[in-house]
Amino acid sequence: MTYLFACIAPLLEWRQAIPMSSAYEWEGVARWLRGDRTGSARSLARRHEIDVYAIPGLRPLGVLGNQGDRVVIGYRQSLSEPYAEHSIRHELGHWAMRKCGVTDSEEGADYIAAATAMPSAAFLACFRSVGDDLPQLALPFGVTETSAALRLGELLGEALAVVAPLSVRVRGPEDWVWPDTETVRRWARAGRPGLKKTRLRDDRRRVVLRAIAG
Ligand SMILES: [Zn+2]
Repeated sequence: MTYLFACIAPLLEWRQAIPMSSAYEWEGVARWLRGDRTGSARSLARRHEIDVYAIPGLRPLGVLGNQGDRVVIGYRQSLSEPYAEHSIRHELGHWAMRKCGVTDSEEGADYIAAATAMPSAAFLACFRSVGDDLPQLALPFGVTETSAALRLGELLGEALAVVAPLSVRVRGPEDWVWPDTETVRRWARAGRPGLKKTRLRDDRRRVVLRAIAG
């Protein structure tokens, strides 16, 4: 297998909110990739004639490559199912951006991974039914609460941060200015008026801060 990409977990990253123009472009790539059907990451890969393998001891979370004239995706075998699903979708995102002539990026691959797992109409319908209850939002889509929270920020356009031990990721309006990482981490520990704090149930080390009106 010849690797085109080897993707690792985000580490100590700080992302600005995703620009609207990028989100629009990536939603389009996700729609092309997904078509009008939903399904598992593996079935999505199969539809595009991409082979998927679990690779024991793989150091990156996922890899995209070629084997002969086939496109192949490998993921670390020890990943739990939601992470394996995300990893496969992430590599599909890299492949699809290239196919669609969109500038390839890690942010884009992650966005497309989420957008294929949680199509906007279905996800917003679920939100209208269960509200911002993250376990309830994540369950029907087979994703982690982190993914569901980030998708919520993307689709509602509300300022939101997921604070994890090694990373802080933000979503929401481009003109919302978050302070430095240390301050956001302090808010995640102690709370902050105007921000709703939710500790994730599937990973107690992670906290979501969501701006609330008023
Ligand atoms: Zn990647």
